[in-house]
Amino acid sequence: MTSSARLTTSGPHAAVTAPVRRGYERYARQAGQWLQGYQARGGKVYCGAGCFACCNMPIRVSLAEALITADALDPAKARAVENHARAALANARTARNDEEYVRRHRDEVGFCPLLDRETGACSEYDARPTRCRDTFSAFPARYCASGTWEQMSRREQDAYRREVARTPGTDGELHFIAPLEHLSEPVWVAAAKAMRSTWGMEVWGDFWVLTTLARDTTFMARVSAGDARGAWRAAHSRGLAHRDLLELS
Ligand code: SF4
Ligand code: SF4
Repeated sequence: MTSSARLTTSGPHAAVTAPVRRGYERYARQAGQWLQGYQARGGKVYCGAGCFACCNMPIRVSLAEALITADALDPAKARAVENHARAALANARTARNDEEYVRRHRDEVGFCPLLDRETGACSEYDARPTRCRDTFSAFPARYCASGTWEQMSRREQDAYRREVARTPGTDGELHFIAPLEHLSEPVWVAAAKAMRSTWGMEVWGDFWVLTTLARDTTFMARVSAGDARGAWRAAHSRGLAHRDLLELS
């Protein structure tokens, strides 16, 4: 365990991170049990070590989760995360709509800097956020990759829809495994409740922006004081404020 990891286990932010850590543990147990049953019934899961086509998707987190990731980072990784956050912000400032934002995030902002490109593994697996924990695919990774849908013919898209509709565990529209996303809802609820009761406010937003701000002492002091305006000003002074990527309420 690093010294910074001890900070969120017993330090000033433990009140918001401890319930999330407990939620992660509960989720791992429940998801493992669910997966066992699913696979025993013949269900297929294509996720595994070295599979990373989903690691260029935008990710929304709570600040409670971002604190856990931030604590695990060494200075080099923290700089890489900040660079990624700034690229995500530049994209958000110029994208004309959500569709363009997501497409450019995946194709131009690119893969998460915490991805080890040599092994395809997450270099901060134990500190990854909820969205990275609850994304599982019932189809091969090529269907998760950016651009696959756009490159499919109308016929292939119709075949995909039919296949998804008859695959147990999906929501009938996409190939991701829906019950494993539903099982993670208590983690989101625990984060919201802990932030509200500790800070009197909630902070949500882009994974890399919040992970960068979680290491900013001025920003965290304003959040800890329940001062949303002061927190926004602190983020703004670092060039890290954007209403879609930083939500203070
Ligand atoms: S969601 Fe898709 S890309 Fe991500 S690990 Fe699973 S199969 Fe691979
Ligand atoms: S935190 Fe890990 S699992 Fe999540 S996007 Fe980054 S590299 Fe992938």
